[in-house]
Amino acid sequence: MSKKTRRAQASISADIIQRIPRVALGEFPTSLIVANKLQKKIGGPEIWLKRDDLISFGLGGNKVRGLEVMLADALAKGADTLVTGAGIQSNHVRATAAAAVYAGMHCTAVYWGEPPLNNDGNYRVTQMLGAECEFTRDNDRASVDTFIVNIANKLNGQGRRTYQIPRGGACAMGVLGHVLAVIEMNKQCNKLGCEPDAIVLALGSGGTYAGWLLGIKLLELPWKLEAYSVSREPKEVSYQVAKLATEAAELLGYDLKFKMEDVLVQGGFIGDGYGLPSIEGKQAIELLARTEGILLDPTYTGKAMAGYLDGVKRDEFKDYSKVIFIHTGGEPAFFAGDGHWLQ
Ligand SMILES: *Cc1c(COP(=O)(O)O)cnc(C)c1O
Repeated sequence: MSKKTRRAQASISADIIQRIPRVALGEFPTSLIVANKLQKKIGGPEIWLKRDDLISFGLGGNKVRGLEVMLADALAKGADTLVTGAGIQSNHVRATAAAAVYAGMHCTAVYWGEPPLNNDGNYRVTQMLGAECEFTRDNDRASVDTFIVNIANKLNGQGRRTYQIPRGGACAMGVLGHVLAVIEMNKQCNKLGCEPDAIVLALGSGGTYAGWLLGIKLLELPWKLEAYSVSREPKEVSYQVAKLATEAAELLGYDLKFKMEDVLVQGGFIGDGYGLPSIEGKQAIELLARTEGILLDPTYTGKAMAGYLDGVKRDEFKDYSKVIFIHTGGEPAFFAGDGHWLQ
């Protein structure tokens, strides 16, 4: 891949920004800082942190980036109700509930499984934001998908104008919000003289990775993506990411086809399952807290950092001199449950 000149990058960036509708919810750019104390402790390349956890809107996190674009789309379509869903501790659902309030809309949240015994973490916030919560009473995560459609249809029948956001916010519109993140960080890197070899991030339903993949491709940046899956097997998720990136490119008017082989995903750090804290994740959270004073979350960033730490130990990053870890947020989940996993 040839490197684009900065001037060419700036012109493509301006063109893309202009084509992506957005309601400003967060304040950007989020800060990009070097984590020297962490690096001193673990070795490996210089490590920087992109602080998307500091997006303050609705307790923040990277989901706000996708929602800015989806909200603009929903408003343009005259919607008055956002319908989405995921697991009970979903950052995406919590941020969607806040976005709905901001825009004067209703929000219906669909969760898989049964209503929980405890009202804590993200779920507590989502309820406080006034979202209507529905439960599929089925532990299959995919049960959320049909529920979203059925509930939206029911509400439409009652005169509402619903806008459906797929489980976890993984859709082409949302992906565009993460393309904007790439543009934002590239500008920041140019200013700070930070030339990363790789970007490290957590991979859930794939929208974030798809946006980074597409953004990097459009700007022809020499950044490798090191993504750690926290929910599905790499193969399954590679397909989803390639599909989302292709669809998002199409929305921007680019005929780019991404294939599964374009999407490198690392497995091995899911632990006992999505949303269940892992020992390695706990150790990674502890390490960052006690070196940099920064909190990671047990579902996403803790597991991605665990993957990175393992990679450093195995010398997998020996050819890199600088990496940027995207801290995608998610701290409210840290305050869910009794914290027994920290003992
Ligand atoms: C959702 C989420 C991710 C991963 O994003 P996907 O687009 O679902 O892959 C990473 N970190 C946090 C904190 C999240 O909430």
